[in-house]
Amino acid sequence: MTDGPSFDHAPGSRTAYVTLVTNRDYVLGATALLRSLRRTETEADLVVLCTPGVYDDDLAALSPFSPRLGHCERLPTSQAFNERHERGRLHKAAPFTKGGKPSFHTPLDNLAKLRLWQLEEYERVVFIDADALVLQNCDKLFEFPEFCAAPNVYESLRDFHRLNSGVFTARPNKATYGKMLEVLDRPDSFWCRTDQTFLEHYFPGWHGLPVFYNMLQYVWFNLPDLWSWQQIHILHYQYEKPWQAGHDKTDRLKPLIDLWQAFATGEGIPADTTLLPGPSEWADQKAS
Ligand code: UDP
Ligand code: MN
Repeated sequence: MTDGPSFDHAPGSRTAYVTLVTNRDYVLGATALLRSLRRTETEADLVVLCTPGVYDDDLAALSPFSPRLGHCERLPTSQAFNERHERGRLHKAAPFTKGGKPSFHTPLDNLAKLRLWQLEEYERVVFIDADALVLQNCDKLFEFPEFCAAPNVYESLRDFHRLNSGVFTARPNKATYGKMLEVLDRPDSFWCRTDQTFLEHYFPGWHGLPVFYNMLQYVWFNLPDLWSWQQIHILHYQYEKPWQAGHDKTDRLKPLIDLWQAFATGEGIPADTTLLPGPSEWADQKAS
């Protein structure tokens, strides 16, 4: 297969953290993510897959973190498949009732993350969405098998049945990539949550990571007892993004948004995030 991501320099490790950006907004996300990853002193490569929707000027913001940029196209899915998964149609067929998706989120773009299986120069990779922060070193995940992901927990026990595809472990392999494309794009196939629904289907025996490897921001207000700064390794801003101007949960998520801003700008990053106040302490401090 010759359509894999192209890089301008060789890998520096057999392991990599991989993320994806298909437009300027997610480059912003990746800036904070990469800064957070460098802070954990990992020796794995940091790989950013980027599609032609991203301009070189925007990508320049990532250069202080020395990522390997992998330029690639979206997946070569059929026109009928693309039409079925077009933003307006998907939102209508499978409405998002539990949170809001920003206008810059294009469902089909998510699927480009499957290209990490083309990166055979790496033995093991950990994928992380561009809207996440790594707060503690996660290199242990490279020892985990394919395919591990945390449950999609942000509301109730029912959430444990499903995985969240914002963080997962994988072993790049072009044969796997080829098989995935075959399964993905069949007549009438419809993946209501794109890569997430697909990966759950493709790896029915997925292994569960502790929720602290992909702590979803809504846990802060929906399941505050589960919050533990001491244990959170990856914080994931699912639904509304912390750089979105004035979304409807900015008040409720303020401390998490402030934390993301610190990583985005490099100013005011707490020396030790394990000591931050949890949801009830924060509410008490606010009230007093
Ligand atoms: N993504 C992207 N452009 C898009 C949609 C998604 O680059 O238009 C990438 C980005 O890495 C993002 C991930 O795919 O973090 C998944 O999308 P998102 O995080 O918005 O979904 P959520 O976590 O809210 O379900
Ligand atoms: Mn995400």
